[in-house]
Amino acid sequence: MKAPAFAYAKPASLEKVFELLEGPNAKVLAGGQSLIPSLNMRLSSPELLVDITGLPGLSEIRVSKDCVRIGALVTHAQLEKSSDIRKHLPLLAQAVPHVAHAAIRNRGTLGGSLALADPAAEYPACAVALEAVLVLRSKTIERRVKAEPFFKGLFETDLKPGELLVAAEFPVAKPSDRSVFLELTRRQGDYAIVGLAAHNDRIVFFGVGSVPFVLKGFSEKEKAKNFLDKNLNPSADLYHSSAAKRHLAGVLLERAWNTR
Ligand code: FAD
Repeated sequence: MKAPAFAYAKPASLEKVFELLEGPNAKVLAGGQSLIPSLNMRLSSPELLVDITGLPGLSEIRVSKDCVRIGALVTHAQLEKSSDIRKHLPLLAQAVPHVAHAAIRNRGTLGGSLALADPAAEYPACAVALEAVLVLRSKTIERRVKAEPFFKGLFETDLKPGELLVAAEFPVAKPSDRSVFLELTRRQGDYAIVGLAAHNDRIVFFGVGSVPFVLKGFSEKEKAKNFLDKNLNPSADLYHSSAAKRHLAGVLLERAWNTR
């Protein structure tokens, strides 16, 4: 299928973006790797696409003493190739190769993935595990929101109409930190059936519900497994029942525990 008709603008400044987003039924376009397929499938029909890829300053990875700030337009491929990400955010470095395929990673962005909040996507779980802070900008203010409350529901975030995610800030990993990323898929590059992003004692599951599921503070594996069995109620998908997903989450927990 082809996308419904839409107008297109590629502003060069944030001011112009905010002005255009005030119009009726306007939508931000970043890498287009989720939005364009959704238009082609007629799941969405915005009147105006506001392409933000011409904005300066949103495509950088900046490392300071305690923080790695990743601009919203940084692509999956940039993250994959970055020695700073490998050194300072090993969890994210482990996750990136699981995101789709090389062609999609060349265009898709960190900001697009976080803003979309697909429940089977890798970055939302990593952001929650690493206690990242998301930087949101509107015409009038900039605000910072912790990753966990940012993800509110199925494809639903704390972003308000007219607001842009401009960056995500991750604490720099310490040498004593332990990160594990695991994912089960039908084929390499598919969205996860079930996945796990763990950083120290924060173990975050994805693909199991509308938002990342957080297990934290457990020092004994059996207690963590019991908590998971009692509290995780994954939504079934086309191929996997809820019980099968809960079982797979337990398998990943076991593997993660043994590799930390
Ligand atoms: P777009 O498609 O441009 O936008 C996505 C949504 O976010 C839109 O609603 C848009 O309005 C909004 N948006 C974008 N940027 C911002 C911003 N800065 N501020 C506010 N709103 C914004 N993803 C995975 O995580 N894991 C996978 O395994 C995976 N597999 C894929 C397989 C295929 C075949 C395809 C086509 C895609 C797959 N993806 C996967 C999606 C891919 O990672 C996308 O790149 C990502 O989800 C969205 O990023 P984007 O830059 O392309 O955003």
